[in-house]
Amino acid sequence: MKRIVLFVLSLFLLSFFVPVLPPVCQAAVLDGEWQYRLRPDAGEWVNYIENTPVPVQGDVHEVWLRIPIKAETPQADTLLFTTKGQAVQIFLGDREIYRDGEFAPQQPWGHGRKWHLVTLPAFAQDTYLTMHIYADSPRQLGIFGRLTLDSLDDQARRIFLTDLLYIITLPVAVLLGLIFLMYVMNSQRHKRLNRHVLTLLVLMAVWTVSLTNVKQMVWNYPVFWDFVSGYVCYLLPMVANAVVLEMVSRAYRKIILRTIQVYGCIAILALVTEAFGYEGFIGCRQLLYAALLLLQTIVGWVMWQAAQKGNVYLKYIMIPMVVMGVLGIADGILFYRHFWNWHVYLLPLSIYTFVVFIVCMVRDQVMYERSLAAQADGLQEEIAVALQRAERDELTGCRNRGAFEGFIQHEIAAGRPFALIMLDIDFFKKINDTYGHDCGDAVLVKFCRTIETVLPQECEFFRWGGEEFVVYCPDGCKEEAAALAGKICHRVAAAELLAGKTITVSAGVAQWHGHADTQAGIFRRMDDALYSAKCGGRNQVVTES
Ligand code: GH3
Ligand code: MG
Ligand code: MG
Repeated sequence: MKRIVLFVLSLFLLSFFVPVLPPVCQAAVLDGEWQYRLRPDAGEWVNYIENTPVPVQGDVHEVWLRIPIKAETPQADTLLFTTKGQAVQIFLGDREIYRDGEFAPQQPWGHGRKWHLVTLPAFAQDTYLTMHIYADSPRQLGIFGRLTLDSLDDQARRIFLTDLLYIITLPVAVLLGLIFLMYVMNSQRHKRLNRHVLTLLVLMAVWTVSLTNVKQMVWNYPVFWDFVSGYVCYLLPMVANAVVLEMVSRAYRKIILRTIQVYGCIAILALVTEAFGYEGFIGCRQLLYAALLLLQTIVGWVMWQAAQKGNVYLKYIMIPMVVMGVLGIADGILFYRHFWNWHVYLLPLSIYTFVVFIVCMVRDQVMYERSLAAQADGLQEEIAVALQRAERDELTGCRNRGAFEGFIQHEIAAGRPFALIMLDIDFFKKINDTYGHDCGDAVLVKFCRTIETVLPQECEFFRWGGEEFVVYCPDGCKEEAAALAGKICHRVAAAELLAGKTITVSAGVAQWHGHADTQAGIFRRMDDALYSAKCGGRNQVVTES
């Protein structure tokens, strides 16, 4: 954890310092011919061209290289060079001044890639700088990253300046990765697509870290970093095209799948040849870059076709994909042209184009969630309407028996006093029989509208069933309810519910007697009262005794 914090901190600090650094000055004083020999103390020194393999035959793993060094610029006392798969020992004259790595095979992983910073001790006379190198592979003998002799400050600048491009891309990659991770965790849609995008971002970030120089100061594990920097570039186009694969329609999937398979074959080939010591990661690069040029042109064309047909996601991803392809190919050209002293990859810069893609994805998700919320609102309204409908009697529009059951249970539980009136239209069957069922229906509707004109606002009115209705009177005693029932009887008799015919209603009134009372109890007493009203000649109100 401490190392990670240190690493992030050093990146952060570097991002401030690097822009104000002066340009790297040329290294001084190491001139003359490079020479080699294969034994430490025997044989002739043979001239050879710097940074080319020493011509050896058979299974040779060690070589001594030397170059004259002049004592005239004492301030240029720091050597900087890189090695890959090598252990190294440095002598100034006969004096050993530096040693790194084991001078023996490091199976199975080898020695990895790293840079070395060596401060030379003061010396008065011109002498030789001798490098004793042990290489995992004989082809590595004589090859090391360009060696420079300069002041410590300038060497440090050289190291950090080559990191500049990675420093400005890495925090963006990490940030985008985190934003996208949050997005993926909260989104149920496009799961596979999102997984691929996330993998791509993580790979880009890890690869970028592996390319930096500063990582060695924080976690000096050259074998691991060498593997990551050498191999992840083979995986990137596969994962990038897997993202495209999830976006294109069925018609184009086969082409994209083929490109992934080709990249997969190259990646396997690189891994196998590297494992067998044939420098596969470097050797297969030519193949990779050639494939990038060809396949990404095809993928670009496919994306263009699909985007023309209205594939919105492809429009989002097209820019990052095209930029990645172009920068990848540019890296290939620059890699083989040795454009820079230390090769700097441009591909990590493509992370900036992912900002557009991720903003679009997040915006798309926000819009989707909004439409879901709108749908949920609509559904809630529909449920409310359906519930209301379920509680209403279709013919009269009054609340029905089901609604009454729920309502009265709630009121009893609340413990507030109330009274109930049961209304039953007199001789209703006769109306049906005489004038027909439709006419009976019309009477029921008019009956309800009439009653509603009499009821105070705080009263509730329910159709109990058939031609029977219940009135709920809150806070009321049976006397008040009886008075109201009398008013209802009077109004119904006076209203002309059926032309030329007086229709009357009988009422039974009962009061809730508190928690000792039950719903069944109050209904029994109300029914008894109604029965008495019917027996007593109808068109009258009877109150429970
Ligand atoms: P009573 O004075 O004793 O109450 O006599 P009644 O005829 O009103 O009572 P009864 O219970 O014998 O008849 C009620 C009738 O109400 C029977 C049924 O056909 C009729 N009815 C029930 N629901 C409806 C309805 O929705 N529409 C119509 N038109 N008639 C209904
Ligand atoms: Mg009845
Ligand atoms: Mg009746």
